[in-house]
Amino acid sequence: ADSLLRAGKKVLLFDAAPMPLAKYFDPELAGIIHSALSEAGVELHLGERINGLRGSRNGVECIEAEGGCYKVDFVFFATGARPNVDLVKGIVELGKTGAIKVNEYMETSAPGIYAAGDAVEVYNPLTGGPQWMPQAGVAVKTGLVAGINAALGRRVAFKGAIGSSISAFSGYYFGKAGLTEAEAKAAEIDAESAYISTSDRPLYCAKRHSLHVKVVVDKKTSRIVGVQIVGNTPAAAGYLELAAALIQGGVSIEDAVFIDYPHMPLLNNYWNPISLALRRLLRL
Ligand SMILES: Cc1cc2nc3c(=O)[nH]c(=O)nc-3n(C[C@H](O)[C@H](O)[C@H](O)COP(=O)(O)OP(=O)(O)OC[C@H]3O[C@@H](n4cnc5c(N)ncnc54)[C@H](O)[C@@H]3O)c2cc1C
Repeated sequence: ADSLLRAGKKVLLFDAAPMPLAKYFDPELAGIIHSALSEAGVELHLGERINGLRGSRNGVECIEAEGGCYKVDFVFFATGARPNVDLVKGIVELGKTGAIKVNEYMETSAPGIYAAGDAVEVYNPLTGGPQWMPQAGVAVKTGLVAGINAALGRRVAFKGAIGSSISAFSGYYFGKAGLTEAEAKAAEIDAESAYISTSDRPLYCAKRHSLHVKVVVDKKTSRIVGVQIVGNTPAAAGYLELAAALIQGGVSIEDAVFIDYPHMPLLNNYWNPISLALRRLLRL
């Protein structure tokens, strides 16, 4: 959508869900992405299912959706993905996600066959179950583990992944590390959350960028289980890397608030946005 808008095209975005990226973000953050899309000029058709396309061999003429027939020149579908496991069906065991089941050494159920990348499901330590995470970060790590172990025997174990991703649109960067509040509750985690809007630099800096942050915490363990960030600065990516380290490292929320981060007004704020959100939760 971003590239097409820049090329001067009119963009219509259809989603059967009531919010953009509703599976990946809780409503507070999805709402900001919604506004960013609208402000950039995307015509949003949310909660509107596409039933089919009308056209000829020469191309598509219109989209048949619940709200009517919309004339378009071309269509991009992004309605989901599946692991490509046809090659090994019946040879190795598949997991309940439909991807290949592997152990921590990336060994499949068939001796001598290793699997990695988008083809496998991995252990999520936050939910305690397997999850399909088709992301490059998981692919390269599982690939490294599979390759080393295939060559040298059980040398290195892959302990799992928490599910991190980031994307960008029209100057906004939005991503998450770990679980949303909805995902945490679905995993029967007794979760609480805090949501804040702040800026990347101290108030006395003339040029600042906004950062909207939601932290999700397991009340029982006092550990962070998820962080979602939307901001109009690429610094959002760095904060998500930090979030992933805090989550995967099992740092308690009290300790996370007081971690000694480097600060310089031109680059960041003396309280980083994750600490600020945690302070809200701890009433500090
Ligand atoms: C549009 C798009 C954008 C993405 N952006 C990001 C991003 O920003 N960040 C991120 O983390 N991830 C992103 N991803 C996901 C990322 O690309 C994948 O997670 C990653 O490439 C998976 O690596 P892989 O090696 O498992 O699979 P692939 O990269 O898909 O490689 C599999 C290869 O196997 C080949 N193959 C398949 N079947 C056979 C066969 N029978 N015989 C021989 N060869 C075969 C395929 O042709 C392919 O080349 C994106 C994916 C897409 C589609």
